Amino acid sequence: MVFVESRGNDGKKPKSVTFSEAILHPSASFGGLYVPKELPKLNEEFVKALPKDYKEMAFRVLKLFDIDIEDTLLQEALALYNNFDDPNSPVPVKRVDQNLFISELYHGPTRAFKDMALQPFGYILSALAKKRDENYLILAATSGDTGPATLETFKNRPNIKVACIYPAGGTSDVQRLQMVTEDGKNLKVIGIKGDFDDAQNALKSLLASSEFQHTLQQKDIHLSAANSVNFGRIIFQILYHIHSYLEVVRAGAIAFGEKINLIVPSGNFGNALGAYYAKKMGVPINKILIASNANNILTELIQKGRYDLRDKKLIKTTSPAMDILKSSNVERVLYDKFGAERTKELMQNLQEKGYYALSSQELEALQQDFDADFSSDEEVAQTIKEYASRYLFDPHTATTIKLYRKYKDDINVAYSTAEWTKFAPAIWKALSGEELKDLQALEAISKELQVPIPQRIAQLFHKPIVHDLIIEKDKIEEEILAFL
Ligand SMILES: *Cc1c(COP(=O)(O)O)cnc(C)c1O
Repeated sequence: MVFVESRGNDGKKPKSVTFSEAILHPSASFGGLYVPKELPKLNEEFVKALPKDYKEMAFRVLKLFDIDIEDTLLQEALALYNNFDDPNSPVPVKRVDQNLFISELYHGPTRAFKDMALQPFGYILSALAKKRDENYLILAATSGDTGPATLETFKNRPNIKVACIYPAGGTSDVQRLQMVTEDGKNLKVIGIKGDFDDAQNALKSLLASSEFQHTLQQKDIHLSAANSVNFGRIIFQILYHIHSYLEVVRAGAIAFGEKINLIVPSGNFGNALGAYYAKKMGVPINKILIASNANNILTELIQKGRYDLRDKKLIKTTSPAMDILKSSNVERVLYDKFGAERTKELMQNLQEKGYYALSSQELEALQQDFDADFSSDEEVAQTIKEYASRYLFDPHTATTIKLYRKYKDDINVAYSTAEWTKFAPAIWKALSGEELKDLQALEAISKELQVPIPQRIAQLFHKPIVHDLIIEKDKIEEEILAFL
């Protein structure tokens, strides 16, 4: 499999690259992204014969992609799913209503779905760097889930250093503790006085700094990215959609070949893009339903064909991992449907004018695969309360229910992207109206609903803090240079 560029080629970069190249150096011409030139097709016999065992299923599907990664390395990377709660079933799919299944993507070490891709991806990236005898710096700015998952996958891995910037006071206690208690010589965790936008902007100005570039060059360090613009994450986010479909068949809810909808709590659109690719490859999927919070830019795009940032400000919600306005992976869908030239034009409009608009035919093409809706924090709280006796939703997962109600005559799989433990204060508030800090909220929910607090969360509150640095945002460069 080779990769091409979503905004076309600038004549300087190669016209196509291998998988390794695309993941080590993920930025493409004109600020675009790498996209697969062609996806493998899954025929019916192949899919029907896929085993229930997740790692074996994943290996067989990945082999079809024909990427430049050796079998043993792929298998070692997939073996990281052994660190999930149940090594034999890292992605349980549960029937919650007659027509609603919940596919749980959060059973990894940091209790959010980022582990699904970052666990195997981190292993492969480090192994490739080592084989090439190159050193890489991964920079991450996080609003809460990407940070812990990135640190966890790269900790003590060879040839990789990670610097992770988070807004002090802008994450939950659990998320903060997951980062500041993570020890590893190759990890630097920095809290800044500011919000997530400040963290992201600081990262951008770092990338533009000539002193920083110079130091990297001197030390012979390459820069890569572990966010979902990296295709190395997307490839692992195709697999669980196939698994989830097969689990619904195995449960007897549909015959093989009948179509289902997938409901995806979305932010940067990586999870939804994986679903779109799975559909294209031949998995019987009808609609991919995009669930958002009050930051409803994706709803507007899919319902009206407009991506308009001009009148938008980021709103803080109880589902912070979906508080996003620039949803990077939409670009890969635009490329797939409308080609590189049009994608470049649309993305240029967004950059220069703050918006783009699709034609009515383009919108129709988008709506063949997608529908979307959003939920306010109040609606999310109501859903959490309503379902609590049957299923404990985290606020991100709860945004899927509005779309389930709209499509309740079809069979639906909704993705659960985080464990309740990461967002206990919001959940307890939904259940009781009372405001508590993380630890107290965890204990209150555990007692009220008779659910245990998992070991990995409980012990966070006793682990020693190894990163206690909180600085002004103009000091970040200095700190990272010292770390390097
Ligand atoms: C990252 C994240 C999302 C959004 O996923 P995207 O692939 O960025 O759309 C949703 N829920 C949770 C809990 C997350 O951590």
